[in-house]
Amino acid sequence: MSVYTHTALGAAVGIAAGNPVAAFFLGAATHVVSDAVSHYDSERVWLEVVLAATAGVLLSWISGWRTVVLFGILGAALPDVDNLLISLKVLPKRSKVFPSHGGYLRHGVELGVRNAAVQIAVLGVLTLWVCVAPELL
Ligand SMILES: [Zn+2]
Repeated sequence: MSVYTHTALGAAVGIAAGNPVAAFFLGAATHVVSDAVSHYDSERVWLEVVLAATAGVLLSWISGWRTVVLFGILGAALPDVDNLLISLKVLPKRSKVFPSHGGYLRHGVELGVRNAAVQIAVLGVLTLWVCVAPELL
């Protein structure tokens, strides 16, 4: 899954988690589940980093910089650090340690770039959730 989608999922579960530790681990759990779904990952690392950072700052700001949102984002996005460092050739390819990257858990089939539109739609829905969830929970 694209990192911006992981970021949005982490923010969404973080806001419902209740505490930062639960937010972090729920965020990591969303990474495993969403990696299992067939998806598109951009080959442009710089684009992934820029979009994920933008989504993270936007979602954090919308939430009023709530700690649970920040920890949910960290838990959901940090697992992709191995992919980032491998893409930048800092680490060898065998360094994929996160279970859904290293082949220990299911990783979805790679879809075409059109799937990016689906992921952007998911980002939009989750952004709305982060806006309204504090009023609902
Ligand atoms: Zn991943």
